[in-house]
Amino acid sequence: MKLTYKPYTLELKHTFTIATNSRTTTPVVLTQIEHDGIIGYGEASMPPYLGESHETVTKFLSRVNLEQFNDPFQLDDILTYVDQIEEKNTAAKASVDIALHDLIGKMLGQPWFKIWGFNKETTPSTTFTIGIDTEEIIRTKVAEAEEYKILKIKLGSDDDRKIISTIRQITDKPLAVDANQGWKNKEFALDLINWLKEKNVVMIEQPMPKEQIDDLAWLTEKSPLPIFADEGVQRLSDVQKIKDVYSGINIKLMKCTGLREAHKMINLAESLGMKIMIGCMTETSCAISAAAQLAPKVEFADLDGNLLIKNDPYSGMKIIDGKIILSNNPGIGLLNQ
Ligand code: MG
Repeated sequence: MKLTYKPYTLELKHTFTIATNSRTTTPVVLTQIEHDGIIGYGEASMPPYLGESHETVTKFLSRVNLEQFNDPFQLDDILTYVDQIEEKNTAAKASVDIALHDLIGKMLGQPWFKIWGFNKETTPSTTFTIGIDTEEIIRTKVAEAEEYKILKIKLGSDDDRKIISTIRQITDKPLAVDANQGWKNKEFALDLINWLKEKNVVMIEQPMPKEQIDDLAWLTEKSPLPIFADEGVQRLSDVQKIKDVYSGINIKLMKCTGLREAHKMINLAESLGMKIMIGCMTETSCAISAAAQLAPKVEFADLDGNLLIKNDPYSGMKIIDGKIILSNNPGIGLLNQ
């Protein structure tokens, strides 16, 4: 097998602001794994706060020698080898995992949701994310998001109630809220969550800093809405540790090294009685279509990263009337690849 890769920079349609930062571009690295004339496609996306960059990913990938493996189906051996090269570099690892899954699916002539035995009719609607912004821009973005059945609102600013009230003047759609660790006090957070429930908010993502474990566990127990870990969960080994801290987990391929580990996280979370959502970074349709293969198993999907960029080199998973539609294209479901 031969691995090739190239750095690429995603241009965002709007400046994207969350509780901790603001940006207009996202670096990604696009990967390909070729075997017997078939090519699998993968991607690493590196929003700056996660500590990976074009340099760290290409450096990591330069150390990955897939020529020692002759059988792409030996996922366990190959991905264990990749994981052991360095401790972190989770997005770089995901770019190999996704390309390998795409390759294997193409060799089998089947998409991964079918290989896993999932029913594609059970995919949820995706949320569409509205970043922290001025009242005027929030109004514009909500109007632009008319097709989406559920919006994800970034909170954690000083104007949280004002932002929600502005949106409620325009639409009564259900809302998901992501505070990105922005609320520091548990009583303040609970008070706000009770108010948000009255406003038809249906879930809360990472309300408080991930280090405030006891406060988060207290909040989850008292909260009328499910509380999901995002910054507070990265990989499979984290899930068991937080089972009493949050109601659910937000799985992202770039955090957990890819589809193989994401699938294991879903199985574990399900067995622990935890809720599951799947999320993304700003990504092309490559990584988004890969994540969408898992969408039939999740309660909430936040797979809008490709919709926020101007220069997507791929097409794959489609959103129709807000719902995730999986094609029968093999592998990760890319079109014309
Ligand atoms: Mg989040």
